[in-house]
Order: sequence, then structure tokens, then C-alpha cells
Amino acid sequence: MSNTKRNIEYIVVHCTATPTNTTMESIKRYWKETLKWNNPGYHYIIHRDGRIEQLLDESQISNGVKGFNPVCVNLSYIGGVDKNNNPTDNRNRAQEDAMFNLIVHLTERYPKAKVCGHRDFPNVHKACPSFDVKQWLANYEPKLG
Ligand SMILES: [Zn+2]
Repeated sequence: MSNTKRNIEYIVVHCTATPTNTTMESIKRYWKETLKWNNPGYHYIIHRDGRIEQLLDESQISNGVKGFNPVCVNLSYIGGVDKNNNPTDNRNRAQEDAMFNLIVHLTERYPKAKVCGHRDFPNVHKACPSFDVKQWLANYEPKLG
């Protein structure tokens, strides 16, 4: 992790809006070949088994929220749609725990940043991350032991 800190105003939660079994390789290929992005969509991705993979140093800008990326750290879970491609919160317990821990860590690192979902930004017409981030954080009960 680099010591160069950007001025982070938002810690933003996303979903990949893919089936839950989508591989990171195919997501990366889509970013690179279809969207022609040089940098990944998110700094962190949360796999189905709860593993957190860092895709980009926090000092670099990822492609999570159009118009806001210079002040965002973006994280995402794999999933977020059902088999008909409709938004659904299909995080499992391992992903919820990992996401909560990652948000706690980022909040400590960027104490002034707001934690929000992609859909909480103005003019966003998607359901990403397919759940209400503030409500989830308020009701989340960390696993003990
Ligand atoms: Zn998003």
C-alpha cells in the first residue's frame, strides 16, 4: 500500500452486476477490451469465498463512479444480479463479513470519507450495489469469535 494519499471523500460500494460465478479474468477482460479502460473499475474486489483482492493501489484512480473517481476508493463484491439479470443482493455471509471489515479499515484510513453505494450518487441510473449501504451498515452484526 502506497503512502501517497489522495483526498478521498467517498468510500463507494459496488457490485459487479454479474452472475456470482463470474471470474475475475472475464471481468478484467471486459474492462480492458470492451470498455478500453487502462485502470480497473475498483480498488478492491470481494470474492465469493470472502477473499479480498486488491486490483489497484489506493493512490491510483479506478473507474467506479463517473465524474467522482478522483475522490473515491471503490470496492465491489462479485454478484449483484439474479439469473434474469435483475438486481438482487446475493452476497453471502463471507462476503458481508469481508466487506464490513474492509469498510472499517478504509474508514480508519480515510476518517473524513463518506461510505455510500454507487446508486447514491446523482444521475446514476443503476441499482448498484443492489442494496442500501447505509441501512446495511446500521443493521450489520459482526460475527463474534
Ligand atoms: Zn457500481
